[in-house]
Amino acid sequence: MIIDSHVHLYPPDVVKNWEKIAKKEPYFKLLCSGKVHKWAVAEDLFEMMESDGIDQCWATSFAFRDPGLCRHCNDYVIDTVARSGGRVQGLAVVNPLSRDFEKEILRCREAGLIGVGELFPDGQVFDITDKRQTWRLATTCQDAGMFLLLHTAEQVGHDYPGKGKAGPTEAAAFCLNHPGLAVVFAHMGGGLWQYEMMPEMRIYLQNAWYDTAAVPFLYEAKVFRAVFAAGVGHKILYGSDFPLLGMKRYSRMLDEVGLDPEEEAALLGGNAQDVLDAAGRFSVLK
Ligand SMILES: [Zn+2]
Repeated sequence: MIIDSHVHLYPPDVVKNWEKIAKKEPYFKLLCSGKVHKWAVAEDLFEMMESDGIDQCWATSFAFRDPGLCRHCNDYVIDTVARSGGRVQGLAVVNPLSRDFEKEILRCREAGLIGVGELFPDGQVFDITDKRQTWRLATTCQDAGMFLLLHTAEQVGHDYPGKGKAGPTEAAAFCLNHPGLAVVFAHMGGGLWQYEMMPEMRIYLQNAWYDTAAVPFLYEAKVFRAVFAAGVGHKILYGSDFPLLGMKRYSRMLDEVGLDPEEEAALLGGNAQDVLDAAGRFSVLK
């Protein structure tokens, strides 16, 4: 079973009015004005799943600063999940420093969404190393049995719009502060997985997973081999970052590196299931 754990959707009116929205949302403006940016609505996702042979997608929208826009995006994701016949699962977006965002997370949980994210520490201007800014978010997700997807990026190499300053150092601090929350760090956690070869970090990062979003833009194919060689192969989730990228680019990389069939199955779906199991285990709400 192939699960694409990281895809983005935009409500049609957000696509139509993006320039107007961008005036009040600088990070949205930055990303949407970028050379590689693409839009996608639910129908584009269904089409991609059909053509690429994806069994399940975990869809999020865009994590705005404005809670009203977040709520609007969540409604669209909830509607898409309902229309997908079980093939799309959804993630909620919130501004974790806004008033009453916990209610929005719980509303989305009631509506069947499975996680929260992809949140943007730089774009939404919150510090993932500061417990005062993260405890409400972490405890609400944990209690609700939802995992958290955070944007992180490698703090070396070429720059690109939206890369941001949250990298392995910040992500590790977040894990230490919130050991009971299942958290997926997007874009390979900016390289955090490599530190799991340090014995103490392997313990501290027990609640961390890493997704492959945008990997073809960032790494050579052998990164997949390296992740398995580091003993972290059970913690890597296939996520395309659709509509930015689709399965074809990843398939080419996987063909090149030639993982074992069991390794490939874990990467393409099995590990994603583990994240849901972990989030459910940590939950206190029944
Ligand atoms: Zn991202």
